[in-house]
This record gives sequence, C-alpha cells and structure tokens, in this order.
Amino acid sequence: MTKRYTDFHLQPIAGEWREGSSERRTRVTNPYDGSELLDIRLADSHDLDAAFLAAEKAQAEWAAIPPAERSAVLQRAVEIFDARKEEIIDWLIRESGSTRLKANVEWGAARGITLEAASMPGRVHGMTLASNVPGKENRVYRKPLGVVGVISPWNFPLHLSQRSVAPALALGNAVVIKPASDTPVTGGLLLAKVFEEAGLPSGLLSVVVGAGSEIGDAFVEHRVPRMISFTGSTPVGRRIGAICSGGEHIKKVALELGGNSPFVVLDDADLDQAVNAAAMGKFLHQGQICMAVNRIIVDASRYDEFAERFVAKVKGLAVGDPDDMATVVGPVINAKQREGLEVKIATAKQEGATVLLDGEIDGQLVPPHVFGDVTPDMEISREEIFGPLVGIQKARDEAHALELANGTEYGLSSAVFSGDLARGARFAQAIKAGMTHVNDMPVNDEAHVPFGGEKNSGLGRFNGDWAIEEFTTDHWISVQHTPRGYPF
Ligand code: NAP
Repeated sequence: MTKRYTDFHLQPIAGEWREGSSERRTRVTNPYDGSELLDIRLADSHDLDAAFLAAEKAQAEWAAIPPAERSAVLQRAVEIFDARKEEIIDWLIRESGSTRLKANVEWGAARGITLEAASMPGRVHGMTLASNVPGKENRVYRKPLGVVGVISPWNFPLHLSQRSVAPALALGNAVVIKPASDTPVTGGLLLAKVFEEAGLPSGLLSVVVGAGSEIGDAFVEHRVPRMISFTGSTPVGRRIGAICSGGEHIKKVALELGGNSPFVVLDDADLDQAVNAAAMGKFLHQGQICMAVNRIIVDASRYDEFAERFVAKVKGLAVGDPDDMATVVGPVINAKQREGLEVKIATAKQEGATVLLDGEIDGQLVPPHVFGDVTPDMEISREEIFGPLVGIQKARDEAHALELANGTEYGLSSAVFSGDLARGARFAQAIKAGMTHVNDMPVNDEAHVPFGGEKNSGLGRFNGDWAIEEFTTDHWISVQHTPRGYPF
C-alpha cells in the first residue's frame, strides 16, 4: 500500500522542503467542522525570490531534454494520480469542503489535463515561411516562456493549479505556484509531492504559501516569471493584468476570472432535462464554480411549470457532511463567504425577489435558496453569486431571453435548452461568451477543448492546443543564405 504523503507544514522552495521565512503563520481548517488540518509558517519575499531564481536556473536544462523524457514525467504523474486517488479525494473533501462527487470530478479533471499535457512535448512545432527578401529563409521556432507563475483559487484548487502547471512543465517551463490561502495543500503542496515522486528535477516546481494581499504584488512583479497564469476573481485579475502590462517587467498574462452564467430555457425545452441540468449546474460544489448557473432565464410560457419542478427537485438535495456519499450540498469555504451569501439573501428579499425556497444556515452549511420574479437590476442577477443561491427570471420571448442572457459584464460559460437543436445552436451563436452548451449545464471542462472567457471573464484559453499556445512563445529566426543587397 502507498504510504500517504506527510509534512505539509513544509513548502518546496528552490528544491528543498522547508518552512516559510515569514514571522506569520496560517491555520488551515476543514470548512465543514472547523477542525485544524495544518499550521503553516508562511513564505515571505525572500522565499519568493529563492523560488523564482531556482526555477530560472533549472528551466534551461529542463527545456533542452528530449520531449519524450518530459512526457514520461507527466505520464508517471498520471500513474501517481491513479495510485493515490483516494488520498487526493480525501484532501479535497477535508480542505476545500468538496462533496465526494465534486472531489471525484475534480480528481478526474486534474488527471485529465495531466494526461493531455503528457502528449504536449511531442505536439509543439514551429514552421518555415517564404520570404520576400531574395535568399532569405524564415523559420519560426516555438519555445517555452521560461518561468511561469501560477496563482489559483480555492474552489477547484487541484485542477485550477494543475491545468496551468502540467502544460507549462510539459512544454519546458519551470513553475512557481501561489495557492489560495484556504487550500495550500490541494492547490499546490500535493501537486509538488506528486511531481517529486514522478521524478521532476529539483527546483523546477516551487510552492509559496502566503496571503495574496501580502506577497501577491511581489509575486506578480518579480523579474523572473515571464508569464502569470491567474485564476480567481475579476477585481484581483484586473490588478494583476495592470501590473503585467504596465509594471517594470512587462510579461504575458492569462486571466481566468469570474462568471455570471445564464441558463436559458426556451419555450420548446424538455423541462425534465432542463430542471436536472439547472440543479446540477447550480449546486455542484455549493455553487462555488466560476461556470455555475448564476441566472435562470425561462420563457414566460413555461416559467410557472419550470419554477415548480425546479423547487421540487432542489428541495430533495441533501445538505450536510461532504464526506457522506449522499450529500449534494456541503459547506461553503469560509465564514467570510457565508457572511457574503447572507447579505445577498437579505438583499434579494429587500429588492423584491419572491422566496421560492430557503432554509436555516448552520455554520458554513448554506442550504439552497431559490428566488422567483428576479429582474436584471437585482444584485442576485447582476453579480456573481458563488454560492447555493439562484434567481429565476421571466423572458417575454426568445429575443428577450437573449437580451437578458447577454446583459452582463461577464462572458465565461452559458447554457440554452431547446427542443430544436438548430434553434438552440443559433441561440448559442448569439451569446457573447467563451463557452455555451446546448441542452446541457454550463459546467463543462474537457482537457482537449478550449476553456476561457470573454468580456470581464478574462483573457486566454486553457487546454489542448490552446494551452500549447499560451505556455510557449514564437521566435522568428531568419537566415540570409546569399548576401543581401542593401540600398546604402
Ligand atoms: P481571489 O480572491 O481573486 O483569489 C484568487 C487567488 O488570488 C488566491 O490565490 C488569492 O490568494 C490570490 N490573490 C488575492 N489577492 C492577490 C493579489 N493582490 N495579488 C496576487 N494574488 C492575489 O478569488 P477566490 O475568491 O479565491 O476565487 C473565486 C473567484 O475565482 C470567483 O470570482 C470565480 O469565478 C473565480 N474563478 C474563475 C475561474 C475561471 O476559470 N474563470 C475558475 C475558478 C474560479 P489568497 O487566497 O491568499 O487571498
């Protein structure tokens, strides 16, 4: 039997597992019962510096090794994901409050992108282009960026770190991760253990555990990382984007930010399917998913029927211990999130939304809340909810449904239900978003298909060929085969 990983109070910094150098510590707790999982001494700016410098040093050699050898490390990481499946799932449940179902989904997604990344070293290719200059040959080489800084959130910590880390490493980069403060293990330390066991050379992957508000700017501004791959909220993403494009060291940035997914039910939709999809797309991981259903928009002719069936379905969802097989809705991540949701509930009532379903909040367990008669000006419609609350809006007709769907600053995911697939696909084409699913929920991610958002949901795409594009850069090298004639 594989021995469980230990010593998560230490961080892999510049090739050595050690304590952070800050005077400050953080307690990592289980969101369900508040029990302490870890007490970690945080990293400071000296640790950051050491991590980035070691990454810079290790990267050149890593980029130069044969692609098959880099691929082999990723393949071994996949085998370790399989061998340690239960251990990884256990951490996701205890540290991020994931239900068993969500932890399995996340483990599968992280494993999937690792497997996809294992094929990337052999897929990178340059090109030659004809030249208008006599005797010249144009070559375009695709090269790793160098060092990539990855900052990830707490909701899908393992996957949202790994979807940058695995491709970046596979393509010859070194990586430093700053996981979210609530999830240092699943967002970084666990991945470092997996890669270490898989044989990744020392110093190529460091993890610095520290608060974004304290070491975030130093991490993003540091000279060494040539790219910051950020997944998190739009306000923080905006700040990071500004530093990357306007700071002392200009660098590439990928921003995967907030969402406000519309879930549209047209008048010819199969309501049973739509209700099931809306429930799954809203309440998986307590609604703490960037792609989660944020606004349900239903054609007026089906509104009452949909609302009744949806509430009946949601009433039956078990709320409780995420480790319990039957639980669908577990705890929200922390007290601050719960307090924010309490304010959103109060505001929805105050703004005139009808309460169709509510319940008592118990600790960090927030039962599903469903509001009807929601209008686009209400906060619950305008803002990303990131919790188990949802409002239903009425659309006069298809054109109005589209207007409501697009009436948001965000453009990450979206969904439309119609009994006519051609109509559904036409509607999907008109939605301004990076991802739209016809007759399915908006929560979808496949390792080989482009993932990302439009508008204030971000910049760039993850997965497959799009990740190869993100984590490499082009180098044009021209070769003048015959002496060139110059005009002076
Ligand atoms: P967040 O507050 O923006 O935090 C995300 C990460 O950024 C954390 O690691 C955080 O560290 C760090 N951070 C905070 N301030 C920083 C700063 N000034 N400089 C650098 N890093 C900083 O977001 P969250 O609350 O963890 O996650 C929820 C948000 O993420 C939602 O808006 C959700 O939609 C979005 N999200 C988007 C996607 C996507 O693919 N588009 C996926 C998942 C989540 P600390 O934890 O230490 O503060």
